[in-house]
Amino acid sequence: MELTSLTIHELSERLSRKEVSAVEVTKAFLGRIGEVDGKTRAYITVTAEAALEAAERADGMLARKDDVTPMTGIPVSVKDIFCTRGIRTTCASKILGNFIPPYDSTVVKKLKGSGAVLLGKTNMDEFAMGSSTENSAFFKTLNPWAPDRVPGGSSGGSAAAMAASECAASVGTDTGGSIRQPAACCGVVGLKPTYGRVSRFGMVAFASSLDQAGPFTRDVTDAAIMLKVMAGHDPLDSTSVNMEVPDYRSFLAAGCKGLKVGIPKEYFIEGMDPDVEKAVRDALDVLKGAGAELVPVSLPHTEYAVAVYYLVATAEASSNLARYDGVKYGLRVNEAGNLLDMYKKTRDSGFGGEVKRRIMLGTYSLSAGYYEAYYKKASQVRTLVRDDFSAAFKTCDVIATPTAPTAAFRLGEKIEDPLTMYLSDIFTISCNLAGIPGISVPCGLILGWKVDEGTVLRTAYAYEQATEWHKRRPAI
Ligand code: GLN
Repeated sequence: MELTSLTIHELSERLSRKEVSAVEVTKAFLGRIGEVDGKTRAYITVTAEAALEAAERADGMLARKDDVTPMTGIPVSVKDIFCTRGIRTTCASKILGNFIPPYDSTVVKKLKGSGAVLLGKTNMDEFAMGSSTENSAFFKTLNPWAPDRVPGGSSGGSAAAMAASECAASVGTDTGGSIRQPAACCGVVGLKPTYGRVSRFGMVAFASSLDQAGPFTRDVTDAAIMLKVMAGHDPLDSTSVNMEVPDYRSFLAAGCKGLKVGIPKEYFIEGMDPDVEKAVRDALDVLKGAGAELVPVSLPHTEYAVAVYYLVATAEASSNLARYDGVKYGLRVNEAGNLLDMYKKTRDSGFGGEVKRRIMLGTYSLSAGYYEAYYKKASQVRTLVRDDFSAAFKTCDVIATPTAPTAAFRLGEKIEDPLTMYLSDIFTISCNLAGIPGISVPCGLILGWKVDEGTVLRTAYAYEQATEWHKRRPAI
């Protein structure tokens, strides 16, 4: 098998047995990017030189057996939402088109500290707003399985880079589904950890009470490896969870015999693609075959989740994005008569259509007279959504659902109709509102209670062991 198709744990074994060097592995991935990225357009920035230097350092660590981790010498990409010192960080927006951060985000710092090699920054929907990566201000990313289809979004560049073997792992963010939905569209594993499990420091803010970083990987073992490196308390993020990070791989072998898997009736709805429903039902049979007990559960407030999300997320976005005013950093349109005019012109030419729509929606629902009716009401219903999960997890260990109502859709199919686009996240959004962890594996979504990533990974692993999906690669 090609080096670029291997998992982290397979590469790591070869690196530690000295069958291959980190420089060779990195060169293989850079070669692959050169070969296929013109077709997928997964990357906004490729940092070849810095990657080769990091690979040389990793080879030194491996030779000295010095601070070696399972990530040492492993080439990864990160969504262009994570600040990278000295490397352009655009959030796929014109307003940050030339922004070069003076510091690394905590996630990037931790990855570098583990010896991982950063290959570059992946494409996304502008400010992570979207489900198809078509909202990038720069270009569209194509699905490596079918070039007429979207890779999902907003972390579509990361998912496409994974499917096309342009990195061994990637890091995305998930505010309403942006890791899990593109993972499903591209046939890879995507994990959204518990809110606060991974530091948000240096991650460009969209909706701060929902945003969470997580890994894209080829299999569940790799997701456990990546989460171990990424997770942990960070004094620079006051919402980060102050709890010890377990060795997530130690959960995997337990299997799912006797585990109670909740099946929420509200997630098997009309309008769902029959092929998706069949694939998910087949996956549930696999779990049952592996010894899990399927139990019906109810999450009665599911139908309000999309509405609640689009009030809460837009409100938070409107306040987070107020910082892009042409004064502190990023784009400034200079041909303005006065300060107010400069703000207006900068924001008008710097933000794309979807971002403007969200800012307006959010500003509206926060304004005097509407706050009580919209934002406050949404926050109250959000508590009901969270309470649904807390009640359901009293009768089951994990919950299994579809990740998205359809498979990857065609480019252009939903972009003119924001409401249809928003409905792509119908199954992923509640998890963010409740702050719980969820993993998407081909094919289906498994949710767990707070900080119980261990059981989520264990169930996903048991499923993966009984299937072959994670071994498939597209021919591009
Ligand atoms: N698609 C959703 C949105 O547009 C979720 C995005 C995300 O998780 N970042 O808001």
